[in-house]
Amino acid sequence: MVDAIKKLAVIGCTGSIGRQTLEVVRSLSDRFKVIGLTGGSNITLLKKQVDKFKPQFIYYRDKKTDAQLENYEFLPEEAMASHPDVDTVVIATPGGCGLKPTLAAVKAGKDVALANKEALVTAGEIIIAEAKKSGAHILPVDSEHSAIWQCLEGEKTPPARIILTASGGPFLGYTAKQLTEVTVEQALKHPTWRMGKKVTIDSATLMNKGLEVIEANRLFDISFEKISILIHPQSIIHSFVEFIDGSTKAQLGWPDMRLPIQYALTYPERLLNIQLPRLDWDKINQLNFEQLNMDSFPCLKLAIEAGKRGGTMPAVLCAADEVAVDFYLSNHIGFGDIANLIQQLLKQHETLFETQPTIDDIQNADAWTRENAIRLVLGEKHAN
Ligand code: MG
Repeated sequence: MVDAIKKLAVIGCTGSIGRQTLEVVRSLSDRFKVIGLTGGSNITLLKKQVDKFKPQFIYYRDKKTDAQLENYEFLPEEAMASHPDVDTVVIATPGGCGLKPTLAAVKAGKDVALANKEALVTAGEIIIAEAKKSGAHILPVDSEHSAIWQCLEGEKTPPARIILTASGGPFLGYTAKQLTEVTVEQALKHPTWRMGKKVTIDSATLMNKGLEVIEANRLFDISFEKISILIHPQSIIHSFVEFIDGSTKAQLGWPDMRLPIQYALTYPERLLNIQLPRLDWDKINQLNFEQLNMDSFPCLKLAIEAGKRGGTMPAVLCAADEVAVDFYLSNHIGFGDIANLIQQLLKQHETLFETQPTIDDIQNADAWTRENAIRLVLGEKHAN
């Protein structure tokens, strides 16, 4: 039986996850129809995608007059994410700007293929509560969470422990001192995954893993004490779930984001996609693991502390990290300063801390953090 064609809106179509989503859609074009595309500032790519997929609606942040794009209906992200014609919303945009469209899609009861970490990290409780109310399904795209989700399918007993795997990024085995001297070029060379710049730097600091721990806590309702991290440099095992009887399940696959993207889009089905690389078990002789040295990765510690604290702290963490990574990529600060800046901002936020924030409180904490980060790095005259 062939299911009806799923109608998709891709929020953040020009970024790494957005592009890979459209690659999956192209390979399975008889199953999906793209009816909405939203991009950031890469108009050249957006125009190519619009030309190929002919969506009903488009949106781009830096709106300029453009003869080709004028032929399409312009619809803001939140309206697109909640539009009645849309079945599945892919939230592919990284950073704080993913929150509003995620919430709109969840409130409208959509299937939400969620690649954005920050939405769940900063407002997980609100999003999960809204999904329960509306019946929306949150389908994780992050490879680790997709793995955990796949391991939990069909299980009736809650997991005893979740083990998130981490490649360790390009600086595995570096000392804290060596880490202060690494260049942007080195940090952008991820050994196994093809990802956007922000996530690649977050992988090098292990902030990415910290956000994933918080994401797992919110998504699977499992305490921080029951989530651990194991270094697995080949990125073939995407995570483990240990059960109360001592049995452990894992999900394995070639490190390619198109696989978790496709699973979220085709769930509960699995479809053949000849474009996706497969593991060749005739060639794999070993899988390696290492224990994590938390002391080399202060960003990971800061993230877990902020996640446990909850309230507005994760919003400060995410916004501080976004700004710190931008400052690092533009050579304003060193690699080691990313953690220092985040730590300073978390500390300064103590006086403004809210334990049960609303979405407005979360967005205010985000704005406060960005402004203060600029003040700390560039000085008073650059802050608004
Ligand atoms: Mg991940």
